[in-house]
Amino acid sequence: MPRRPAAALATSGEVLRLIRTGEAATRADIGRVTGLSRPAVSLRVSELLDRSLIVEDSEGPSTGGRPPTRLVFNSSGGVVLVASLGASRAQIAVCDLAGHALARTSLGVDVEEGPDVVLPLVMDTWSELLGDRPLSQLRGVGLGVPATVEFAAGRTESARIMASWTGVAIPPIIAERFPGPVFLDNDVNVIAIGEHRAVYAGEADDLLFIKVSTRIGSGVIAGGEILRGALGAAGEIGHIPVRDGGGVLCRCGNIDCVDSVASGTAILRDLRARGRDVKTLDDVVSLVRAGDAQTMSVVRDAARMLGEVVASAVNLLNPAVVVLGGDVAETFQPMVSGVREVVHRRSTALSTRNLRIERSRLGPGAGIVGCAHMVLDHILSPEAVDALP
Ligand SMILES: [Zn+2]
Repeated sequence: MPRRPAAALATSGEVLRLIRTGEAATRADIGRVTGLSRPAVSLRVSELLDRSLIVEDSEGPSTGGRPPTRLVFNSSGGVVLVASLGASRAQIAVCDLAGHALARTSLGVDVEEGPDVVLPLVMDTWSELLGDRPLSQLRGVGLGVPATVEFAAGRTESARIMASWTGVAIPPIIAERFPGPVFLDNDVNVIAIGEHRAVYAGEADDLLFIKVSTRIGSGVIAGGEILRGALGAAGEIGHIPVRDGGGVLCRCGNIDCVDSVASGTAILRDLRARGRDVKTLDDVVSLVRAGDAQTMSVVRDAARMLGEVVASAVNLLNPAVVVLGGDVAETFQPMVSGVREVVHRRSTALSTRNLRIERSRLGPGAGIVGCAHMVLDHILSPEAVDALP
């Protein structure tokens, strides 16, 4: 292993990264990998121990001699608060530093009531979930919101749901009650991060996540990282127009956007137009399960139009896996098979050679996992760790 030049001496944040990734498990490993002297390794290790980011595990293998003390990332060394807001439900949790939920709940919320109503409700729920845990354990907060987000500023841009969320700077509102950095991204991006990190990390680092629910949105993971675009608007697949959509005016002002012809809202509208008494997506699920011919036909049409747009996205992005999530995709099997069929027919042979098109395996929990990883990736980065007091 080549030694690093003195100018690039590894910091304690970099030593933590080596321990978290398994590249170094003992003080001797750290010295070997970084080229740091023994006293320098000791200094960094004791800094990390003081910050509760690592613990010593002396229970090594007992075969002859005293084993070197192993250094282990301390996932209990703090907590992060997370919330994934959808149009009508919020998944809220307290997670450890490995991203596992220590306490979680799901609330019915109407995001159209705006941040003044929804954010206090989310914060009250965090307080309840924290219970007796002191706020000193809190290391960061992460939120997924149903709006385009200017990530660096933590500010919402055009809200997909309602004007009251547009232009709101959320971190200062959270910071009044909870210490630590606040990270914000749009709801579909955090779900895409969750699906990737919990199910596909290391196996498929180019992933296209499509959420089909009341609305249609997508999140793009490219080379293991979320693709946000110049203004945070990447992945806005819902407003790509389809052919033969029937001339439906979309709420964005264009005609035949895939969101306006293939979303849960569109499926409900089309069934009602055919005289069916369907109030919610649950009613549609029951009809799909019963094999109702008219419902199946509406869902298949929606799948065909969605498939057309996904096929173009596959040509553009060449993902290893397309994950279909959201309550419509998760419960309507004809949706998944319909999209699969169209994509394999319409995308290039090379882009579909090894392509998998799968239903979400995480379901509604994906947003929580994604929010937690969004926070952890930042607060455990070498730069952030080195900046800790
Ligand atoms: Zn549109």
